[in-house]
Amino acid sequence: MIKKFILTIFSIIISTNIVNAKIDVVYPTSKELKVTSSSVYFSGNTDYGSKFYINDEAVKLWNNNFFVHVVPLNFGENKIKLTSVKNGKKEELIYTIDRNKYVKRQQSVPLYEQKNQGDVIYTKVIKTNATVRENPTKFSNRVVDLPLNVILYLEGKKGEYYKIEEKGPTQYWIHESNIKEPVKISNKIKAKFLNQKFYSDDKYEYCKIYLSHPVLFQTKQNENTIELTLFGVETKDAEGNVLPNYKYKFVFNDSVIAYDCYYEDNNFIFRKTKLPLNVDVNYPLKDIKIFVDAGHGGSEKGAVGPTRVNEKDINLSIVNYLVQYLKSAGADVITSRTDDCKVGLYDRVDIAKKNDALISISIHNNSLALGRNPYLNNGTEVHYYNKNAKLLAEIINKNLALDLNLKDNGIHKSSFVMTRQSLPISVLVEVAYMINPEEYILLQNPQFQKNVAKSIKKSIEKYIIMIKK
Ligand SMILES: [Zn+2]
Repeated sequence: MIKKFILTIFSIIISTNIVNAKIDVVYPTSKELKVTSSSVYFSGNTDYGSKFYINDEAVKLWNNNFFVHVVPLNFGENKIKLTSVKNGKKEELIYTIDRNKYVKRQQSVPLYEQKNQGDVIYTKVIKTNATVRENPTKFSNRVVDLPLNVILYLEGKKGEYYKIEEKGPTQYWIHESNIKEPVKISNKIKAKFLNQKFYSDDKYEYCKIYLSHPVLFQTKQNENTIELTLFGVETKDAEGNVLPNYKYKFVFNDSVIAYDCYYEDNNFIFRKTKLPLNVDVNYPLKDIKIFVDAGHGGSEKGAVGPTRVNEKDINLSIVNYLVQYLKSAGADVITSRTDDCKVGLYDRVDIAKKNDALISISIHNNSLALGRNPYLNNGTEVHYYNKNAKLLAEIINKNLALDLNLKDNGIHKSSFVMTRQSLPISVLVEVAYMINPEEYILLQNPQFQKNVAKSIKKSIEKYIIMIKK
């Protein structure tokens, strides 16, 4: 009796395993959604050896268990049926996707409230990396990220943005969360230029400008010059005319300039990295400081592949190989993470700066919006923001495309936290697509990951040889 009972339980367990052919849908993440796109892709996995259908149409199972499939949508409600069949048993899931006609939302344009003539509206920056933009929206171009305690005078407000009084080549707007509650004061406290000094240590050349208080600044990089403007710091030209802003042009011998600007108390500091001297072309990475960053980590998974391998883990595997190769080539390597932990974006930048890295490489892999086609989007691309990183981005991009036989999607000027810094020389690599089936399989292959790391290491070597003095 007992034997028979155990046997029955056992066979129930076995049969439940067979009955429940699972369907694990990774994207879309919800069974009901509204979209405006003409199609949606489904990615996910089912049991090995199942037959898989979407709306009764047979769908290819990559590696015998995962699917990535584009489903065209009609306007209005679309019922999409996913079916997995194995050994005569089947599992079914229904998705309801509502395709709307794209209606441009009527956005109420906030009024511009200008201060009264003669009023002096004073405020101070209360956040580090307080972004100043050209227009009062978060989509507008960044002018500069200001440090703490910079004094600003305001001219008006639109929505959540204040307009800064200073006149320059563009307008300057700052979000209300970045500044102290503005107050009316009787007289402007004018910033005074006190002194200017040049000095250097073994890593940087500095220019220190002594001011009575910190002000809004802007830098513009040209081929081998940087033009600095300190707003509201009155100076006189050679003829004795009063100029509203202090301007200075730094001229360099080299075209690759890694630089940044910050305040030490009231004093503005511009510093520029000294390029490596005495580079041995046979051993170019010797003692070069390189910051290597594995994108995402911890609860931030990045893109999720059809079998739920996370981008953060693939980024880390590639980074761990890259660190190993760079170190054996003599480089001094700093990382943001060597295991699966969460690191803030600005913390990553801080680690790179604090360690005086010359180069920063952030490793990511690409994802895709639901309305795009994962079979038409593949390949490799490199992002940079500052002029000083363009050459490095080009070399890494070309080599990755050639060495790994990937589609060359070129280099892109993108304002990301990991590219925006002008020191270190910063690039962000999107090696390949997590959601393209062939590239997803490649990305999980340790040999492919090693080849990516080798290609990037080779590119940095070539770059150092090109920029050496
Ligand atoms: Zn990423």
